[in-house]
Amino acid sequence: MNEFRGMLSNFDIDGIWLDYHHSHASWERAEPAMPDTCFCERCVDQFARETKTELPDLTTPDLAELLLSEYKETWVQWRCDLFTDWVREFRSILDETRPAALLGTYHCPWTDSDYDGALRES
Ligand SMILES: [Zn+2]
Repeated sequence: MNEFRGMLSNFDIDGIWLDYHHSHASWERAEPAMPDTCFCERCVDQFARETKTELPDLTTPDLAELLLSEYKETWVQWRCDLFTDWVREFRSILDETRPAALLGTYHCPWTDSDYDGALRES
């Protein structure tokens, strides 16, 4: 966010793109690679704190399995909210720093039903 703010402050630009804005995936190929991420301690702790979810003390693989089964809807919604909040933050910085500039974002072109709902869940 600091780099984003600095770029808008230091250069006379008309707009900026978020290229690409999605979770880790390689979808521009015949068979998309969409690994489920991220289950690092920082991310899992943030999820637990922000969703007020009490998680058992498990290994990372076991936590990942739990998050993708019992807590899947909460996990997916939290991840979507995280990405949405980043866009809000970028928008806010742009509005404060260079309000006439445009903000664009690239998205995966899939529909909600492509790849069994991967647009939202992967
Ligand atoms: Zn992480």
